[in-house]
Order: sequence, then structure tokens, then C-alpha cells
Amino acid sequence: MPAQILDGAAYAAEIRAAVTRQVAWYTAHHGPIKLSAVLVGSDAGGRLYAESQRKLSIKVGVQYELVELPESATQAELLAEIDRLNADPEVTGIILQLPLPGHIEDAVTQYRIDPYKDVEGVNPANIGLLFYGEPLIAPCTALAVTELIRRSGVPQRGAEAVVVGQSRIVGRPVTMFLLTHLATVTGCHVATRDLAAHTRAADILVVAVGKPRLIGPEYVKPGAVVIDVGINRITEETPAGKVVRRTVGDVDFGSVSKIAGYLSPVPGGVGPLTVAMLLRNTVEAAHKQLHRRM
Ligand code: NAD
Repeated sequence: MPAQILDGAAYAAEIRAAVTRQVAWYTAHHGPIKLSAVLVGSDAGGRLYAESQRKLSIKVGVQYELVELPESATQAELLAEIDRLNADPEVTGIILQLPLPGHIEDAVTQYRIDPYKDVEGVNPANIGLLFYGEPLIAPCTALAVTELIRRSGVPQRGAEAVVVGQSRIVGRPVTMFLLTHLATVTGCHVATRDLAAHTRAADILVVAVGKPRLIGPEYVKPGAVVIDVGINRITEETPAGKVVRRTVGDVDFGSVSKIAGYLSPVPGGVGPLTVAMLLRNTVEAAHKQLHRRM
């Protein structure tokens, strides 16, 4: 039987509808929710991403401001801007657009964002809280992966789970979430010997590597839940000889969909759900700022 498709785009629409109601309630009782996104330099991709964030934010009733700094901005100038946004009571959420120019350190800057305004969940303090099983604001992509697994209905407790890719923002937080839900988790990475031997044992397989179609059917246990986080832009020739650009995941969708039980597509899986989680984090962050503990 072909895999059931985990339709991230449809789930994202449901979440956005709920967030819209929550934002309206919050705004009526406590005033506007405002997201400030910081973009350093003139990266066209960053500006495009910011524009789509603006549209989606406004759609759910969240105010959005893009704060632009020149490419030449120093680390100190960027930190001063973050301090200003941290101190501004009207700003309830801060996004730092990546990539930053080479002379600026991502982690130092992310560390400076007030953990209560860190709607992307990238501050090391927020990532650390996942280890305590008490997240304040968790990374959006890891939340999206968790939501897709939950929607499959397959129990995580006691399941064999394998997470391929162990980055700080995606793979490791996903690993922590699965552990919190009492799955037995194996973390695979670039130095893993015989990747297929691990992945074939997985009831739940999450792939976050950034290598087009790395995972074929020989890596997948029949009936498994397979969540594809990868986003890869490739150029390839169609059978008719036409050269096309397309976005593919780390999983070979066509062949794996014949063997997996549940599969998230790319595009239309983790991606749209990640943006919905950003909006959900934004309204939750505003609420949590009303009852600060740190
Ligand atoms: P990263 O480059 O920071 O980490 C990649 C990880 O993959 C590392 O742990 C590395 O050890 C591992 N790896 C590399 N080659 C491997 C191999 N051959 N076998 C097994 N493991 C290998 O990447 P990232 O930031 O975690 O992103 C991973 C992918 O997810 C990228 O395609 C990225 O675009 C995508 N992504 C998607 C979203 C979304 O919202 N859908 C968000 C973030 C990242």
C-alpha cells in the first residue's frame, strides 16, 4: 500500500487559523503583537524570506517590521540593535535572518536575543531548556517535525527512532523531543558507518541532512513514518530531455512512498509547518512575557 502523505501545508493552514484567533484575543486584552526581523547586508534570499514572513504575519494579525543593517555592520553594532529590540516593550518577537556576513558570529548574536522574544527558538538558552524537557520556546523546524509525527498517529513511546543529521537547530532538538516522548533514539551523522543498517530498523525516521534524495527505499523499514526535512534546489533533465530546476528533499519521494507507511513531501511537508510554528511561537512568546520567570 502506498504511504499516507503527511500534508504539512494543510496542517499549517489549521494552525494559522488557530493562531489568528489567539492573536485577536491577545491584541484585544494586551495590545498588539509585534515581530521585528533583523537582516544584515543585502542578501536577496534573506529579503525575499522576510517579505513572505511579513505577508504571513499580517495575515494572522501580527505586526511586522524589518530592521536592516548594512553588510559592514560590526558584531558590536548588531548586538546593540538586538539590545534595543530586547528593551522595546512594543516588540514581542525577534527574528535574526541567516546567513549573517562572515565577520559576525551566529551563536554570539543568537545568545543575545531575549529568550522570551526568541520566536525561532535559536537562543542556546532555549535549546538547553529542551534537555530539561521544559521548553520555553523551541526551534520551529523541530516543532514542525514533532507535529508531523504526532499527526501520523504512530506512538512514539517505545518506538525505534532514527534522526539522520544532528545540527544544533534541527537534528539535535528533534532527537531531544523524541527522547522526551520515550522513543529509543539513534542519532546518525556524517561519520555514521553503514547508515542503512540503522535507518532500516527505524519505526520513525527523520532525515535532516541537505543531500538530495540521500534516502532511497533500501534505507526504509516497510510501514515506517518518514519525515523529510531537507530542502535542496537541483537542476535535472526530464525524460523528455527538458532541463528543469526543482526543489527536492533528502528522501527519494517516488520510491520511498511505495514502502513507507507515512511520508512528508518536499515541498509541502515540514517547510510550511515550520512557518506556522514560527507564528504559533510568536503568540506564545507574547503570552509568556506576561508571566516571566527569568
Ligand atoms: P547542517 O548542514 O547544519 O547539518 C547537516 C547534518 O547532516 C550534520 O549533522 C552532518 O553530520 C549530517 N550529514 C552530512 N552528510 C551526511 C551523510 N552523508 N549521511 C548522514 N549524515 C550526514 O544542516 P541543517 O541546517 O540541519 O539542515 C539540513 C537540511 O534541512 C537542509 O537541506 C536544510 O535546507 C533543511 N532545513 C529545512 C528547514 C525547513 O523548514 N523545512 C529548516 C532548516 C533546515
